Amino acid sequence: MSSSQAITSLKGVGPRVAERLQRLGIGSVQDLLFHLPLRYEDRTRVVPIGSLRPGDQVVIEGVVQLAEIKYGKRRTLLVHLADGTGRILVRFFHFNTQQKDSFERGVRLRCYGEARRGQHSLELIHPEYRTVSEADATSVEEHLTPIYPTTEGLHQLSLRQLTERALEQLKAGKLALDEFLPASLREQLHLPELAAALLYVHRPPPDAPVELMLERQHPTQRRLAFEELLAHTLSLKQLREQARSQQARSLQTHSKLVEQFITQLPFVLTAAQQRVLTEIASDVNTTTPMLRLVQGDVGSGKTVVAAIAALHAVASGFQAAVMAPTEILAEQHYRNFSQWLVPLGIQLAWLSGKLKTKPRREAMEAMASGDAQVVIGTHALFQDEVSFNNLALLVIDEQHRFGVHQRLALREKGVQNGYLPHQLIMTATPIPRTLAMTAYADLDCSVIDELPPGRKPIETVVLPDARRDEVVQRVHRICAEGRQVYWVCTLIEESEALQCQAAEDTASQLAEALPDLRIGLVHGRLKPEQKERVMAAFKAAEIDLLVATTVIEVGVDVPNASLMIIENAERLGLAQLHQLRGRVGRGTQASVCVLMYHGALSENARARLAVMRESNDGFVIAQKDLDLRGPGEVLGTRQTGVLLLQIADLQRDQAMLPQVQAVADTMLAQHPEQVTPLIRRWLGERTRYADV
Ligand code: ADP
Ligand code: MG
Repeated sequence: MSSSQAITSLKGVGPRVAERLQRLGIGSVQDLLFHLPLRYEDRTRVVPIGSLRPGDQVVIEGVVQLAEIKYGKRRTLLVHLADGTGRILVRFFHFNTQQKDSFERGVRLRCYGEARRGQHSLELIHPEYRTVSEADATSVEEHLTPIYPTTEGLHQLSLRQLTERALEQLKAGKLALDEFLPASLREQLHLPELAAALLYVHRPPPDAPVELMLERQHPTQRRLAFEELLAHTLSLKQLREQARSQQARSLQTHSKLVEQFITQLPFVLTAAQQRVLTEIASDVNTTTPMLRLVQGDVGSGKTVVAAIAALHAVASGFQAAVMAPTEILAEQHYRNFSQWLVPLGIQLAWLSGKLKTKPRREAMEAMASGDAQVVIGTHALFQDEVSFNNLALLVIDEQHRFGVHQRLALREKGVQNGYLPHQLIMTATPIPRTLAMTAYADLDCSVIDELPPGRKPIETVVLPDARRDEVVQRVHRICAEGRQVYWVCTLIEESEALQCQAAEDTASQLAEALPDLRIGLVHGRLKPEQKERVMAAFKAAEIDLLVATTVIEVGVDVPNASLMIIENAERLGLAQLHQLRGRVGRGTQASVCVLMYHGALSENARARLAVMRESNDGFVIAQKDLDLRGPGEVLGTRQTGVLLLQIADLQRDQAMLPQVQAVADTMLAQHPEQVTPLIRRWLGERTRYADV
């Protein structure tokens, strides 16, 4: 196995630089090579000023016509440039007189920056620039310029220089780099060798296809993405093996208790629920810890499945814990579980961060003594001072709010007297199977792919916001019938503060338009208690119309709410729209979801909203979302905790995933010695979490 070369062996890396590089996870010259460009800038050609459009990232070159200082709200230096095709204004807020003097009329400047719309013409604000003579008019960059992820005190330019040196060593054959992908595979997938791929992505040659590179679809990038996905998959599989090598309590799964529980339910379990329960039962029956993910669309009935799993633990004389990501959800579970389990003589405990000292101490005592057989709460359950008597099963709801690290930390916490609790993770975000196999390679997956019978499908309507008045009237009508309504305000890419502001504005507008309705408001800036209070009032039907930001997305159950309005729906991902929409259609009433959009819809936006209108099935929607939107949405930004990827993208690269799985299995079976070095190469220090 090759050894890596200390980063300090590189010219220009003293202790200070080394420390900064360490912050980026770079400890060796090899690490530096795997610190890949985040993106590229195209400085390979000078663009005529006349052809610029707002938003273009470009190199331009022009002759100074005039440089002047303006004293407005802020002192600014304005430099007027022209190149024979057009004129542009370069604006500086920070400058000194020396600088101003250097912009003499007639001086030729080359600038790199983003063209923005100004008051009178296009502008560049604080571009990178240098003066050039007419003679070097052709000497632009030969390569796409790589932009690296960096850290405070470490310049882009330094990183570029350092990688340059590392690449020289690589070219000279002075750096040991193991090739982990077998030649046969590379041939089959047309993937280049490792060293060639690294040289290319760090310094794309002059003829590199710009579009392909910017989209990270070049074979060299795909080759690295493949390896990165392989490393993550192996790491998760390793974690899984480590967990599975521990002992869990074997639980009894044919008990009077469970039988009794199922008979007293006011409904019959669906075939899908029963199938998943069988899968769970066969897991918890053994002494190998269960690590199972249950995916089930909103409303598919995951809670009752969790309750039955918990009963297996109770029937065997052990404790079960159920953890939800928010107070609202945890409380909802507590209420459901109390209703179901107290009549069976089971003791419950409730633990959340906001409990007062005394009830909190009581809950903790009941947990520690084992008096509490089922414990429900938020992540407060896993604070240091909390201990269980004999926890045998842990249910985590809506896990996409928790990242891999948290999941692992919880697993570790649960270990007691050498026993690991069985773990059941429930998610309402259905993701296609190939994605799940990689993102959750440390888990077995079950799917509840059926809704309880009798659900009325939600009717979805797409409307321009020009018809807002009609929508407001509809809200009024529904509330007059004694039903309740959600009004969701969304702003994407804006700050949370702006989002809350938008919700506040909407709430007051609606209050004006609908004076006889009781209107509530929840958004992210409210204190948890305030949020709870509003949600509780909505549940108790003391509020008719709830105006909210997307904070209400997950899990809240108010069956009497039968209308939801979503503003700016065209700007949300389909998965998120589906989650939001799942807040209605939970009762016996036919429900309606109105997707309002602003302005003219693009073709793609139209197609995406049509998917929402035509389907109520989370899996169908997730797949369409992939087809229509590509990167980033199905797992959603919320779920970025799932995997931290440098160059790969689970959505974009999903076609590779089956092969990644296959290669991972082959590697584990035939070249286990390669596994750890490969993981280290891509996850570096992050392999820390492998020590669970
Ligand atoms: P989710 O999967 O979104 O967490 P819940 O567990 O909250 O769904 O269930 C949604 C509703 O469906 C609840 O009111 C629950 O009692 C009910 N439910 C669950 N399973 C069934 C079933 N088999 N038949 C009828 N209703 C069911
Ligand atoms: Mg739920």
